[in-house]
Parts: sequence; structure tokens; C-alpha cells
Amino acid sequence: MENDKYLLSDFVDFLHVDFESVQKLPENGRRDIFEKYKRVLIEFPGLMGYTDIFFNGDISAIVDFQKKWLECLSWIIDKLKNPEMFFQLEVTHVLCRSSDKLLFGPAGDDKFRNVISAWYDSDNEPAGREEKEFPKGVFKFFSLLNGNNAQNAIRHCALCNRIFINPTLKTKLYCSPKCQKNAGVQRVRAKQKTNKGE
Ligand SMILES: [Zn+2]
Repeated sequence: MENDKYLLSDFVDFLHVDFESVQKLPENGRRDIFEKYKRVLIEFPGLMGYTDIFFNGDISAIVDFQKKWLECLSWIIDKLKNPEMFFQLEVTHVLCRSSDKLLFGPAGDDKFRNVISAWYDSDNEPAGREEKEFPKGVFKFFSLLNGNNAQNAIRHCALCNRIFINPTLKTKLYCSPKCQKNAGVQRVRAKQKTNKGE
């Protein structure tokens, strides 16, 4: 489970990789980054054929994939802010609520539509229903997230807004030790400013 959560974390990091810059790195630098994400390419559906994006291949398809995934993750993070939200992944028909642990059922088959519906109850009637079509890998993604409190496990960094996976059970507000440190520095500066009465 822990190991799987790190795979999820690597996948979300992969969505932020700037492949244009990676391709400009020296050979050993490119190889290091490839090694870091090799497991993501092997385990996420549809990514197997993309090893050349780390070296000199065409990156347009992967840039599109990254953009779509990040947009979908922002959508679900936003929906998760409402603790009374219901979610359903098409085909599995497993219902779950954002206030509980997320459960999207067993990994399905990616040949089905990757659509997640979200809605909330208003006087026992479903309201505000929205549908979002996710890119390939949605079953893999949510099966790795199964059983976790999603509001804690997936969020935007409180400082840089980058989406990150928290592989621990503790609440984490920042994507990295660097952002946590910078946020601390900002808090101290803000306090000094108030104390000086500026
Ligand atoms: Zn950050």
C-alpha cells in the first residue's frame, strides 16, 4: 500500500515534468530522470511506448496528456472541498463520498469511458451534477487511491499551488520541504512587518 502510494506520487510528479528541458540535459541527467519515472511508464496504461520523451522523441502527445490530467485533478480536488460530495466512476458504479474514504472499486478496463460524475444532495435530490472525462489511467489512479482519505492524500500546495500526493497519513499542506520552509520564512516576515507597524 505504502509502495503504491509512492507510485501515485511519482505519477503526479511525472505530470509536472518539463520534457523540453529534460531533453536538453546531458545524457546521464536524462537517464536519471528516466530511471525515476520508469515504473510510472510501465504501470500506467498507455504510457509504455513513451520512453523516448526523455531523450529526443516527440513530446506533443505527452504534454497534452499532462495538461489534461492536471486539469482533471484540479477538478476533483475542487469537488473534494465539499464534504457532502458524491462521486461515481462510470462502469464500476461504486458510489463514494468525499467525507469518507474514497472507494472507486476494483481497477476496471480502460476501454470504457473514463468518466467521473460528481454531485451533492440537496433535500435528498441530487444537485449540481457534473461529469468529467479523464485521460487514460483513471482506473489505475483511483485504485491506488482507494481507501485513503482523498482530501488529505491529494491537494494543491498551499504555497506554489502544485498538485501533490501525500503518501503519509499526516496532514501535509506543502508539496515539498522547500515550500514548507519558504512558507515559514514568509510567515516570519509577515509577523515582523506587523510588529513594526508597517
Ligand atoms: Zn509547493
